Amino acid sequence: MREEYDVVIIGAGIGGLTCGSLLAKEGLKVLVVEQASKPGGYATSYKKNGFTFDSCVHFLGGCGRKGIIRKLITNLETEEEIKFIEVQSPMGVILDNKKISLPVKDPRELEKILQRLFPQEAPQIPKYFQILRRITKEILDLVSPSFFKFLLFPIRYPHLIRYQKSTLKDLLDKYFTDPKLKNILSIAPTTLPPSKISLFFMAIVTTQGQEGFYYPQGGIQSFSNTLVKGLKKHRGELLLDTLVSKILVEKKRVCGVELTSGRRIGTKYVVSNTTLEQTFNRLVGSENLPDKYMRRIKNQKVSLPGFILHIATDLDLKSLRLSFTNAILPSDLEKEFAALNNNQMPDESSLIITIPSLVDSTLAPEGKHILSIVAPAPYSYDWQNKKEEVAKRIIKQAEKAIPNLSRHIIYQNISTPLTLEKYTLNTKGAMYGLQVTPEQFGINRISQKTPIKGLYLVGHYTRPAHGVVGVAMSGQFAAQAVLHSRES
Ligand SMILES: Cc1cc2nc3c(=O)[nH]c(=O)nc-3n(C[C@H](O)[C@H](O)[C@H](O)COP(=O)(O)OP(=O)(O)OC[C@H]3O[C@@H](n4cnc5c(N)ncnc54)[C@H](O)[C@@H]3O)c2cc1C
Repeated sequence: MREEYDVVIIGAGIGGLTCGSLLAKEGLKVLVVEQASKPGGYATSYKKNGFTFDSCVHFLGGCGRKGIIRKLITNLETEEEIKFIEVQSPMGVILDNKKISLPVKDPRELEKILQRLFPQEAPQIPKYFQILRRITKEILDLVSPSFFKFLLFPIRYPHLIRYQKSTLKDLLDKYFTDPKLKNILSIAPTTLPPSKISLFFMAIVTTQGQEGFYYPQGGIQSFSNTLVKGLKKHRGELLLDTLVSKILVEKKRVCGVELTSGRRIGTKYVVSNTTLEQTFNRLVGSENLPDKYMRRIKNQKVSLPGFILHIATDLDLKSLRLSFTNAILPSDLEKEFAALNNNQMPDESSLIITIPSLVDSTLAPEGKHILSIVAPAPYSYDWQNKKEEVAKRIIKQAEKAIPNLSRHIIYQNISTPLTLEKYTLNTKGAMYGLQVTPEQFGINRISQKTPIKGLYLVGHYTRPAHGVVGVAMSGQFAAQAVLHSRES
């Protein structure tokens, strides 16, 4: 390890690894420091009794031919290192004890299925999806702005103007009355109910499904490891099991970092992949930041943590004709959110059941399967005494999708919000960084640039959003900002 680097990245989550590897490719001397024993943050896997489990992330978008993840891997010259398996039936829902596959890749087919299930809402369904498609089209157009586009903003982006403050609930209530249909259309990677989800986020997520979902063969860790290979191929370095305890600032400019050992490393650029709270309150020190900025940081709302079960089973899950991920929803998502915010574990949870061994047989011995069940959960709860009870209740609910599951468990591991916090240092185990409300999505989210010169942010507390694709984009934005700053 050197005494000095061009850039030090704090945290080897996907945001940090993307930024670090891209800057290493540009010839900068890069050091990525990670407190955990393996790279990836939420995108890690572990092995137990011949099974491979993914800690959190289930699958990836952006891996199609023109997708951002595929382009990243190609740019790093690591495409030979990884195989992405396209998931054929990525999403399903259990509705009134029936398994329904949602063909998210084929919007017309999805509309038809929903029209058959909800005939009284049939005429409105295509109109609803058309609005989402128009919003996405305008967002994508805006991402590569030109002066003339801004001049013509009101004409060119009518949906962005009209729906900028809208939540998903606003649009659902405009078109539909059936609560079950509204619930299905609210399935999204967030811990928010429809009254809080940014409509723009929902539009992107819904239409992004058309590009397909992918699973990296061997487990999610193989994706994080591929980014590390890209980093190292371009002479970047990764230091594991090492906590950064301070970001050193002199005259409002970054000059280095300090490790818990007391060792100092000099650098002009620090990219922080950790939480806003840790970066500013603990590593920089709020005294080094303007009061206005710190007030804004303090007012940001973080997503809820999760309760995660990893299960190995001898049931033949292929024969059940389930999708890769399967949602089981409570009747009232708003009520569930209110209970969680009140530090209660609701009687009925939103469950996402994922079965990676349906697409990758290397994850489990022959005839066996692995699955994960994720439910949003409160942080302040008596987890030590109640986690087994909650697990039992959740498995019983999951039996709507997988009958007799409780009698066919050959291995089970429980992660509570405290586990997520312990392994990744995310604020109170937040699953998705900042909430994706209209006030905290896209351009409204905290920027990569900070008031401290040379300090940049990546990851799911920053622009544009959470999720592997979102944080990989944040890594690209931060890398561009560092390169731009060096040139000027
Ligand atoms: C249960 C669950 C399921 C999910 N499923 C999906 C999915 O299927 N698809 C998808 O796209 N997204 C999914 N997500 C969301 C996605 O995982 C995250 O949005 C994304 O991975 C966050 O990446 P990140 O770069 O912000 O950093 P994180 O993953 O939070 O990593 C930050 C890293 O920084 C390190 N660190 C923190 N502080 C320090 C320090 N002081 N010194 C050194 N190291 C430090 C941490 O140890 C950690 O490794 C899921 C999330 C959860 C919780």
